Amino acid sequence: MQTNPLTNPLTKNIGPHNSATDIGHYRDNGGYRGWRKALDMAPKDIVKLVQDGGLRGRGGAGFNTGLKWSFVPSGEDSPAVKYLVCNADEMEPGTFKDRLLMERDPHLLLEGMAIAAYAIEARTAYIFIRGEYHLAAARLQQAIAEATEQGLLGSNIQGGDYSLEIHLHRSAGNYICGEETALLNALEGRRAVPRAKPPFPQVSGLWGKPTVVNNVETFCNIPHLIDMGAEWYRSLGRGEDAGSKLFGVSGKVKNPGTWELPMGTPVREIIEQHAGGMQDGLQLKGFLPGGGSTDFLGPEHLDVPMDYDAIGKAGSRMGTGTIIVLDDHTCPVGLVLNLSQFFARESCGWCTPCRDGLPWVVKILQRIESGEGRLEDLELLREQAGRMGPGNTFCALAPGAAEPLQSALKLFEQDFVDHIEKGCCPFA
Ligand code: NAD
Repeated sequence: MQTNPLTNPLTKNIGPHNSATDIGHYRDNGGYRGWRKALDMAPKDIVKLVQDGGLRGRGGAGFNTGLKWSFVPSGEDSPAVKYLVCNADEMEPGTFKDRLLMERDPHLLLEGMAIAAYAIEARTAYIFIRGEYHLAAARLQQAIAEATEQGLLGSNIQGGDYSLEIHLHRSAGNYICGEETALLNALEGRRAVPRAKPPFPQVSGLWGKPTVVNNVETFCNIPHLIDMGAEWYRSLGRGEDAGSKLFGVSGKVKNPGTWELPMGTPVREIIEQHAGGMQDGLQLKGFLPGGGSTDFLGPEHLDVPMDYDAIGKAGSRMGTGTIIVLDDHTCPVGLVLNLSQFFARESCGWCTPCRDGLPWVVKILQRIESGEGRLEDLELLREQAGRMGPGNTFCALAPGAAEPLQSALKLFEQDFVDHIEKGCCPFA
């Protein structure tokens, strides 16, 4: 991993000697400088700076972060209690970027959260972390204790009026807990099902109070944005979008992994240079650009920059920016079946298209994969993908699950037909 602080602010501390277990190392490398600068600024100026920087949410949706913060009511008439929540429930298939940040540089997350909490005038913050992330949880807990001991968190921070408590909450499991309103229900001790939006959490969130929920990587961008300014931050991107990003590649490439690169880095460069290209004897057949709940794109899209709008125009979503590569020796029906099984198992059962639709999709895909499918099944799958689409469900789980399915039916239709006509999986 490169560690140039000017081009790799997210990963500059990740190396042989990292800040994970040493606040001294973090501070020696400029850590908590952004936080000290922020404490001398008015909260509204921080919100404006983040908005001007153009940072878009790294959890997958790409919503402008400063704009989100600006929706929180402020001023004397606003509710006295507000909350900040870090969504660390990273469970999107193929996505392993927030884990790296939390395990290897937990103070970066804490610093970003402290600045965000101050900007929205919250005095209590929660990190909702995936239950399986044991090492990340232990390191964050230690980092919270260290930062509190050094007066960077807790009561009367740096001798001033502002106080902030950050609590770590370990999830009991389930993909749906990463949906922000289901996450808030889980934090409140309720069943983790999504809430209707609007109202958005910024107005009515945790225990009905204004709440900002942001992803781990989003917070990790804040310290250097505050420290170096909006113009510098925007200049990190190579295309339309600002900043740098952790991109990842999984699948049958030579060197799967995660790298911090400029926003707008073309897909080809990520797969061929950083991930080392396809394993010998394999050809790239397609890829999911941003985790399991995005649409497949084909080899003709390899030169598209990894920007939210550019990937959108190509027909998919940048999502978490973690690419899953499909090669020509792997069965696309099997891949979509595997993803659909995951989404069906993780459905919270709150709405019908997801609760009943996904198991039905799994059954049909299993039938096709085992060579017992019928040609009519393809139309049935298309109809079902449409029923699970946006507007028919409370949250993005089923619409997300529909994306790899509907795009695989388009891009790899012949593979589905071959299974049915040959009566077996041609890749087995
Ligand atoms: P969304 O577009 O509904 O919302 C994104 C954020 O913007 C939310 O915080 C929401 O409150 C805010 N927002 C959106 N419209 C708003 C408005 N009009 N006014 C005020 N605030 C508004 O998306 P979502 O359902 O929160 O997230 C879906 C994304 O999550 C997908 O893109 C998927 O890729 C990603 N995802 C990530 C993981 C992971 O592990 N990182 C897991 C599952 C899904």
